Amino acid sequence: MKIGIPRGLLYYYYYPLWTTFFEVLGAEVILSEKTNKQIVDNGVKNTVDDACLPIKVYHGHVIDLKDKVDLVFVPKMMSVHKDEYICPKFCGLPEMVKSSIKDLPNMIDITIDFHKSKKNLSRTVNEMGSYITKDRNKIDFAFEKALKEHENYKAKIKSGMLPIDVEEHKILKNINSYKEKAQILLIGHPYNIYDAYLSMNIIEKLRKYDLDVITQDSFDAKVINKKAAIMDKKMFWSFGRKLLGSAFYGMEQKNIQGIIYLSSFGCGIDSVIADIIERRIRRNSDKPFILLTIDEHTGEAGINTRIEAFVDMIKWRGKNENNFSTHGKYLSAH
Ligand code: SF4
Repeated sequence: MKIGIPRGLLYYYYYPLWTTFFEVLGAEVILSEKTNKQIVDNGVKNTVDDACLPIKVYHGHVIDLKDKVDLVFVPKMMSVHKDEYICPKFCGLPEMVKSSIKDLPNMIDITIDFHKSKKNLSRTVNEMGSYITKDRNKIDFAFEKALKEHENYKAKIKSGMLPIDVEEHKILKNINSYKEKAQILLIGHPYNIYDAYLSMNIIEKLRKYDLDVITQDSFDAKVINKKAAIMDKKMFWSFGRKLLGSAFYGMEQKNIQGIIYLSSFGCGIDSVIADIIERRIRRNSDKPFILLTIDEHTGEAGINTRIEAFVDMIKWRGKNENNFSTHGKYLSAH
């Protein structure tokens, strides 16, 4: 049996878990191609206009798989943390895909919803495995193996690799030398920052300037949560909490020379979170910050120019005056 996994949305966080689970159960896992122009164009053509870019691109990935597999895995990911949700667009994803794309194979459209607790984890896992076997022991065994893979993956990220490096099987032998370089904190939804096509390869572009790129996934969850908790109200969007906590923590770290927020057009969560982050950084720190927004029409030249200007400013500051800021109260002091 061939199971298709679209390389979009939370693929970048969970693909080791999902692929291991299905493979241990005996299925052949087929991934969609990496995002390319055809996938983006197909997604844009086959999704409602007001969807955000990542949702459109996800549709393109499903189209890429639909004639190659027996089942396509499109989970309805409502919540993965207690008292939090991911995004309203994730909650209706299988329905949106079914109504937008014709001639789909059968779909594994299980609901993943842990907002009350993880008590229904076992039922969810069983439902996911039952598309391949009804043998509960086999399903439990496969999930145990998959969890181990997931933990290994998370450990690699903690050791300094980014999901994009693990996916490419890149061994960063020089992780320590990377750590000695000037650091840039790149934040954004994983499907924006780790998708090389959508992000216009921003990670590699920054590395070519001899910068060490870290992301929200490079920080410990406890640190992120503690920093996010300084908000007056609890952030109930998981992405929002993670991005806020990472930015608040990052803006206090001396070795981080600048913060880039990569957002996609049409994201309601980003429009709020990016604004809060930008205001806090401008008010409470002298860190350079830039918001880059991508959509299906974004030209690479424009993004390159903005990255180049940002990096130039950081390098100039490093060489000249450490405390010189292009904004806020520090400006008047010089
Ligand atoms: S969080 Fe934003 S970018 Fe992600 S699916 Fe929701 S609206 Fe789209």
